[in-house]
Amino acid sequence: MKKPVSEKIEMMMERSSWIRKMFEEGARLKAEMGENNVFDFTLGNPVGEPPEKVETELKKLVNERKPGAHRYMPNAGFVETRSQIAKYVSERSGRNLSANNIVMTTGAGGALNVIIKALCDPADEVVIAAPYFPEYLFYADNHQAKIKVVETDEKFQLMPEEIEKALGAKTRIVLLNSPNNPTGAIYPENALKEIGEILERAAEKYGRPIYLVMDEPYRKLAYDDVIVPDVFNCYQRSIVATSHSKDLNLPGERIGYIAIHPDNEEPDKIFDAMTLANRILGFVNAPALFQRLAASMQDVTPDMSVYKQNRDILYNGLSEAGYDIVKPDGGFYLFPKSPIEDDVKFVETLKKRNVLVVPGKGFGRGGHFRISFCCEPDVCGRALPGFEEAFDDL
Ligand code: PLP
Repeated sequence: MKKPVSEKIEMMMERSSWIRKMFEEGARLKAEMGENNVFDFTLGNPVGEPPEKVETELKKLVNERKPGAHRYMPNAGFVETRSQIAKYVSERSGRNLSANNIVMTTGAGGALNVIIKALCDPADEVVIAAPYFPEYLFYADNHQAKIKVVETDEKFQLMPEEIEKALGAKTRIVLLNSPNNPTGAIYPENALKEIGEILERAAEKYGRPIYLVMDEPYRKLAYDDVIVPDVFNCYQRSIVATSHSKDLNLPGERIGYIAIHPDNEEPDKIFDAMTLANRILGFVNAPALFQRLAASMQDVTPDMSVYKQNRDILYNGLSEAGYDIVKPDGGFYLFPKSPIEDDVKFVETLKKRNVLVVPGKGFGRGGHFRISFCCEPDVCGRALPGFEEAFDDL
């Protein structure tokens, strides 16, 4: 009997299993030991509720009963929503965006698929920096694009010369994520500008545009006044993908957008290509109700107090226990070094203390592990003895 599913997806199911595997392990342990005795740091699924303003506005929108509010619309999204978001991005970046520089998407994941589909021919290359968000590998493969991985330095910062070495005639996109999942690193403006210059030279050399795509769902989640620079001020051929999964705690609602730098060559053609990609990938358009909500939520800033508390409890506690960690400037992840080279083995050691994390191997950098701390602060505090014991045992 032939296999019931494609061999390719079967292979992917194997490869994609780390976060899921640990999450399922968590569910099993919680059923066995009780919810309160398991410290689950596996998923980037914020426990907090959306800000009050989101709930108030949502109720208002539902009660409005606006005719046609639930119909099909332009595949890029409602013009009014795109205009309002264009205004917000223009004010932030100092660039002059219009509604036709914005495409509403089903989250950042949808945005990235639309971008790759619209820009890449088969075998075109997408350069990413390790450690990376593992879904990038699948997103590129969805559109027959090839991933090229470059390393970052020991503080998880970009090494522009490594990016330069990775560029070639097939490079179409350099895809960067800041604030970063899994490291919490924020890339400073001078690094992005340097990369912009490198891409400019490479585009000239190879005779076609190379795009700098910034994946920014954590843009508003920065600590200690660290600034997340605007890529629109660093490189003309830039595109931003973002969502409200993390800054408004709405990951289940699948709402995000793409912003296209207006000084790209033929920005209208890029917009049209992305609009079509949104449709033919089967998204058709981003969810209507949440587009209308997003229009008035751009100025809302997340409450960072719980995340900051969590970051400090874990960063200070683990550092004191002897772990080697780079303090994250943004997001809600820590990416400590595993005390032993074999991160999978160390993750098993932590699991014996009911502490669940994800091996760094799944993010393209072994010898580390990821802690996702979008949980209640008491979970972080109560997990510390488990982290300490696992370290001391080795
Ligand atoms: N990019 C990064 C770096 C992420 O961490 C995530 C989600 O965890 C996504 C994209 C996808 O986010 P969304 O829920 O908006 O599709």
